[in-house]
Amino acid sequence: MAGEGLDLKFWGTRGSLPTASPEHSEFGGCTMCVELRFGEAVIFFDAGSGLPFAGKELWAEGRRDFHIFFTHGHYDHIMGLPFFLPVYKPETRLTMWSGHLGPGGTTAEMVADFMRQPFFPVGPEVFKAKVEMRDFNAGDTLTPVEGLTMRTAMLNHPGGAVGYRVECAGKIIAMVFDTEHEPGQVDPVVLDLMRGADLVLYDSNFTDAEFDCFRTFGHSTWQEGIRLAKAAGAKRIAFVHHSTFRTDAELLEIETEAQRLFPGAFCARDFQVVSV
Ligand SMILES: [Zn+2]
Ligand SMILES: [Zn+2]
Repeated sequence: MAGEGLDLKFWGTRGSLPTASPEHSEFGGCTMCVELRFGEAVIFFDAGSGLPFAGKELWAEGRRDFHIFFTHGHYDHIMGLPFFLPVYKPETRLTMWSGHLGPGGTTAEMVADFMRQPFFPVGPEVFKAKVEMRDFNAGDTLTPVEGLTMRTAMLNHPGGAVGYRVECAGKIIAMVFDTEHEPGQVDPVVLDLMRGADLVLYDSNFTDAEFDCFRTFGHSTWQEGIRLAKAAGAKRIAFVHHSTFRTDAELLEIETEAQRLFPGAFCARDFQVVSV
């Protein structure tokens, strides 16, 4: 992961529930976690079950400074946090951010609510790292690292979820992990995040054929992702938040069909690195 521009690594691309089976070996079964590397900064989007693998590797590489930007606190986006080993090392500096909770809700409360009995044996007081919890409001523009700007927006998801538009080194990446669309309507919020993006990561939990059955679950389809990417003039789109049940064979089929419609489309795989 080196280079002039932005490097992105998918540590977890599955939605809802981690999975492991011979039929999930190519794409992987870890839930959402994406790393963005910009200079010395390591920025994660979400702390799903892919995060522990990132923690092990990056610690060995000598990385000690981390940011985690949560899209929201659903289990598939936070479950890896207590297993992120750098958080048990005093040398680590970790800043966690969230902006989906609205007035009164804080990142610190979200983490404490997640790590507590009877659901979890210990609370966040076991962390040894220098941990900072930051709150923002969806809609804010953030500059967590010099030279890197993030625009944020609230997506259509039960309980809220934040979409991010990262602008850095002359490149644009849009992160739209959990969002539901209205069939026949282009979501203006998502369109705005994606406009002219070099790479879009989009909630492709369902297919158009499945979508009617799962309205209100808060997710979208890979076909809608392509419609949006075309409307927004985006260059590439990575499908993420794959359904737990989607097999390697099914994802390969989706990828082939998607590339006929939009050559810059692909199904993201766990541990895949993409240079933007
Ligand atoms: Zn999710
Ligand atoms: Zn969710």
